[in-house]
Amino acid sequence: MTISPEPISQASISQAPTSQASISQAPTSQASGQLDHRDINRHLAVFSTDPLVGAGLPLWLPAGAVIRHELEMFAAEIARRDGCLAVYSPVLAKRALFEISGHWAKFSDDMFPAMRTGGDELVLRPANCPHHAMIYASRPRSYRELPIRLNELAPMFRAERSGVLSGLSRVRQINLDDTHVFCRPDQVASEVERALRSALHAQDVLGLPVDYVRLSRRDAGQRYLGSFGQWQAAEDALRSAASAVLGAQDPPLIEAEGAAAFYGPKLDLQVRDGRGHEESIATVQLDFSQPDRFDLAYDAADGSRQRVVMIHRGTVGAMERVVAALLERYQGRLPLWLAPVQVCVMPVGPAQDEAAGALVEALCAAGLRATVEVDGSLGARVRASRQLRHCVIAVIGAAEVESGQVQITDVAADFKGSVSREELVELLSQSYTNRVRGIEWHGGLGSAAGPPRDRCSIGDMGAPRASGTRP
Ligand SMILES: [Zn+2]
Repeated sequence: MTISPEPISQASISQAPTSQASISQAPTSQASGQLDHRDINRHLAVFSTDPLVGAGLPLWLPAGAVIRHELEMFAAEIARRDGCLAVYSPVLAKRALFEISGHWAKFSDDMFPAMRTGGDELVLRPANCPHHAMIYASRPRSYRELPIRLNELAPMFRAERSGVLSGLSRVRQINLDDTHVFCRPDQVASEVERALRSALHAQDVLGLPVDYVRLSRRDAGQRYLGSFGQWQAAEDALRSAASAVLGAQDPPLIEAEGAAAFYGPKLDLQVRDGRGHEESIATVQLDFSQPDRFDLAYDAADGSRQRVVMIHRGTVGAMERVVAALLERYQGRLPLWLAPVQVCVMPVGPAQDEAAGALVEALCAAGLRATVEVDGSLGARVRASRQLRHCVIAVIGAAEVESGQVQITDVAADFKGSVSREELVELLSQSYTNRVRGIEWHGGLGSAAGPPRDRCSIGDMGAPRASGTRP
């Protein structure tokens, strides 16, 4: 995360202030008939807030922890695939660190006050980059070991006023999938391409559409750090990298003068939500400032000491914001790989309890999240399961025990039909592994699921999948 001239806005973990604040005043159910994530949360119990804990500090409940864990695993996989090194850093640091980084001068209003202890003034960090800069600076660096990419699912803190806090979309602790790349100037273009590709890929697998990619450039104003030449070179590098990545089908590249931060231009992945608001969900940011401020350098081939370039990249994004966006995008009916309960198995009567238990065991053995529901009439159980947005409902009656089949309902795929127990386990574990958005069942093909490449059909079982497939 980097520093910016404007007050830090939750929505865009990068820069441009958004009108997120106003959303907290918006009625919970939106004009478009789409439920707000706070409404959906009433059914799904993803998070809770408590006045004793304080506003803007959500508690992740078991269902929320499942969703977040899946997102964190996904983020870690992308980072590993991109050659990032996982690091851990403390959420506190001496005030001096943020005085050097520039955050103190720019954001002390948005930061929690410093805590005095043992003669030190410690603060909760408003961004993760200064800590990562210190990891880079922990020993001398040679040009040969660059680029160095440091990734962390890192908490950072904002002393937001309680009036603007709302659900998961405006919080005081933000858990961000954050990466900082330290590279040579000749590596900037390829690192930006890699970062942009991964951010687009992540949003694609999540099914969160990106409306356009914004090249946020400086204007003629004087508030920018670095020379015009440096800016020209950096903006050109971002433009050519974006053009190399964005194909015909991808979101357009739109340039915005004056949208840059004062220390460097950036590429922002912009989304417009149903309320006409716009936010940056991921960012690839060039930074002249912190390498200078922390004197970050490397030993070049000719033995000279050269300034390293720092790139801030957000790929999956902030856990709070992503989960809020996913709940609203899918209206709580999350794709199988993210659903807290993937399969709810229901024996029609006590005589089928054993068969139902065996199916749950087989599903769990395949790594799926399955549960059995026996209390109440079948109709009432199905209604409750629909309301809880369980991904797949599997009913077993006397006929199914006989035939080895299962009666399936998949609301998101608009599918109702019969599948054999073995096929069910295989299809769901494939769909889970491939992080598909919609499951493709025999016959009653669903209408809601994404383009064919996102589906996993019974015919494909065993076929490897490219998309968000787990390693
Ligand atoms: Zn950063």
